Amino acid sequence: MYGLSRDDCERLDREDPLGTLRGRFELPSGLIYLDGNSLGALPVGARQRLDELVRVQWGEDLIRSWNRHDWIGMPRRIGAKIARLIGARDDEVIAADSTSINLFKLLAAALRLRPRRRIIVSERTNFPTDLYIIEGLIELLGQGHELRLVHADELSDALDEKVAVLVMTQVDYRSGRLHDLAALTRQAQAKGVLTLWDLSHSAGAMPIELNAAGVDMAVGCGYKYLNGGPGAPAYLFIARRHLRDAQPTIAGWMGHAAPFTFAPDYRPAAGIERHLVGTPPVLGLAALEVGVDLLLEADLQLVREKSRRLGDLYLRLLDQECAAFGFEHACPHDSTRRGSQVAVRHPQGYAIIQALIVEGVIGDFRAPDILRFGLAPLYLRYVDIWDAVAALHRVMASQAWNKPEFKRKATVT
Ligand SMILES: *Cc1c(COP(=O)(O)O)cnc(C)c1O
Repeated sequence: MYGLSRDDCERLDREDPLGTLRGRFELPSGLIYLDGNSLGALPVGARQRLDELVRVQWGEDLIRSWNRHDWIGMPRRIGAKIARLIGARDDEVIAADSTSINLFKLLAAALRLRPRRRIIVSERTNFPTDLYIIEGLIELLGQGHELRLVHADELSDALDEKVAVLVMTQVDYRSGRLHDLAALTRQAQAKGVLTLWDLSHSAGAMPIELNAAGVDMAVGCGYKYLNGGPGAPAYLFIARRHLRDAQPTIAGWMGHAAPFTFAPDYRPAAGIERHLVGTPPVLGLAALEVGVDLLLEADLQLVREKSRRLGDLYLRLLDQECAAFGFEHACPHDSTRRGSQVAVRHPQGYAIIQALIVEGVIGDFRAPDILRFGLAPLYLRYVDIWDAVAALHRVMASQAWNKPEFKRKATVT
């Protein structure tokens, strides 16, 4: 059997139809960045856009910019662009708030659409904020709602006529497991269960077809694969058929039918705008728009294909180069069931990640023993995967991880 070589990876880069997009990002030299699933890289255009915005729009035009530069239209305009990434219509998505807050808003709206049902189903391994938000809302409502947490393979059995909403994250943040969004949505709908999908770890890394799947509601994050910058605004989706009946949870003035009449009574806007709360975060939205525009230039089928190949390459090289060091795959082998990351398990995972960072490879660690490597197809090269696995080999062969400063600090509980 022939092993893969670095030359093979360079050849894959020469043939990569997305290869030119890398130049549109500012990436520090000497660094291999495998954490784009936590914080996406900086688009060159974002620096220029923010500079212009600060100097001219804020600095000179000041409050006139709400109209002159359409600051007021940003949540809808950027929402409409995100809609094209997730298979939605432009009046179904709006950019606002954080993922956590949008989840709270939409879950509350969804529960009001199913007033006679009391169960919310989710996955036990779901991202913590999603679970906390559900629990917190249940407590606030005080109507006897109940969170039913199950394992992935028990989901279909957990859906029955008592369930109001299924809250799912499409790609698991730890294992990278990709759920079949269409199949689960269909199963939920057969029981009259509304679906609320969290796309934080999937949107921007693969095509998503919310409307083709019949999804009711969705939320997602702006700072991961959308490359919107640290703490970027998130987005929310509500299918057109629910727009009239989905009530706003937090009745803020930006969701009012006519905010600038300053009327004392609340009247919700007609469409998706009613789910806005307060003044839009203009700087964050501007940076997010640059990230989204970049993604709209790429063919998402190609993005997905490259993401799968990068993951396959990582796992294959890990087996080829690091077989002696006791790593176990913690993500699905089948790339059609995997998001845009790989996860491997090692008892010394924390120390290994610290030693890799010293070697110029940034991945991250998730307790208890998972090393996670995000594979952002817009700016990663195949040769980066080669170099990242070579660095891992160096760290393991030299035992560079085995230093006191890489020991996990005991946490005080
Ligand atoms: C990243 C992520 C979030 C982040 O929520 P914030 O409100 O932006 O902190 C939420 N859910 C999932 C599944 C995520 O991956």
